[in-house]
Order: sequence, then C-alpha cells, then structure tokens
Amino acid sequence: MKRNQIPFLALFFLIGFNALAQQPRAQIDPKATEVWEPEVPKVDPGKDVYSPPSDAIVLFDGKDMSEWEIGDHTKWEVKDGVVTIQESDKHRQSPTSISTKKAFGDMQLHLEWRSPAEVKGGGQRRGNSGIMLQGKYEVQVLDSYDNRTYSNGQAASVYKQYYPLVNACRKPGEWQVYDIVYTAPRFDENGDLRSPARVTVIHNGVLVQNNVEIQGRVAFIGPAKYSAHDLKQPLHLQDHGDAVSYRNIWVREL
Ligand code: MG
Repeated sequence: MKRNQIPFLALFFLIGFNALAQQPRAQIDPKATEVWEPEVPKVDPGKDVYSPPSDAIVLFDGKDMSEWEIGDHTKWEVKDGVVTIQESDKHRQSPTSISTKKAFGDMQLHLEWRSPAEVKGGGQRRGNSGIMLQGKYEVQVLDSYDNRTYSNGQAASVYKQYYPLVNACRKPGEWQVYDIVYTAPRFDENGDLRSPARVTVIHNGVLVQNNVEIQGRVAFIGPAKYSAHDLKQPLHLQDHGDAVSYRNIWVREL
C-alpha cells in the first residue's frame, strides 16, 4: 500500500463506523431477535427413551386396562406387565378393536408391540394388529420379519396408503417400538376437509414414515376417503385374532 493511500483508507473506515453508529439501536441489537415468552415448560424425560415423560398420559403401564373400553367381542389379557390379544379365528376376516376412554387430537404416541415368537401363518395372517389413530387411520402392526406381503400392508405402513421407507422389523417374539407423531385432520363447518391428517412413524428408532399426508379413513377395499369428525377421537388398537402383545403405551397431547 502506498503512503498517500492511508488517509483515504482511514476516511473510509471513519465514514463506515459513523454510518453504523447512526443505525437505530433496535436494528443492530442482538436482543431484538430473542424470544423470552412464553418460557418453555420443563418436562422430566424419564429414565430412558422408553419411559413416559412427566407430561404423558399413560394408557397402559403394565398393570391394567382401565384406560380402555373393551367390548365382549374381544379379550385382552394382562399378565407380567404385558397385555396380549387372545388368539381367535373369528376376528381374522373382520377385525375388531378396543378404544381409549380419552379422546385425542394432535399427539405424540409411544408404544411397544411384540408378535408371537411361534410363527404361524403368513402374509397378513401373521401377527396382525394395528394402531388405529383416532379409530380411523391405521399404522399397521404385522410380523414383517421375513414375511412378504403387499408393501403398503406390511408393518409400519399406513395401511394401503404408504409403505414404510425401510423394513425395520425385529424377529418374531422380540419387542418393537413405534414412536408416532400425528396431526389430526381439520374439517370446516360444512364437513369439508380443510387439512388432511399427517403422520410420522419411527420404528425401532428408524424413520419409516416422514410426515405423510393421510388420504382418508383406512379402507380394505377401494380408495380411502375422509368423512368429517370431531378434532379429538379415541385411539383404537386392532384385534385381528393374532396373539400380539403390547406394553408401555403413552400419549403426549400436542
Ligand atoms: Mg392390521
């Protein structure tokens, strides 16, 4: 740099700093972009990733099914901290379900399930149950370990709508984990769909459904369609006649 350039450089910096100093303070204050209210509530996350956090509604803690309505048509037996569907042939063609006494809208759901260690049947007739979100939208439970069926009907599919991104199934008889984030559909006052339901599913720690848009109520035959319902609806678990077990079921309302 030549000596006679130095005064110009000094002048340039002086003008620059002056311009900065003249900016209104709010525009350069880093506090302007800080958000302090509301203060985020504290939650005790529990002792491991499986235990219910302090703000969860526990739907099954291994003791009893008092949070559920169970009709005469189905039998769920609680033993050793686990609830198991009684095996039966009569429900295989027309699955039934049990429902929570409480109703839920947007939610985070955690549950653990296990298909029977003794493998019987194949395809849809092997460890079939289901997580019926709002009693209407099914995340499939099935023993999909070495058990080919239609992809959009295997474990962790949104039944007949979306196959999972990968098959993260453990062996039959091993416990499996679903963590589900669900956004309920919204309907306007005429009963028309304003926004569809959405769901994210993590199966054994692996993302398998990434915020997919649910197409309508689960349908075994034909396309899924919506029909208007209240924002909050009970959660159902499907009894498909297979001896599927559940444990550690909890919900966080969003
Ligand atoms: Mg099912």
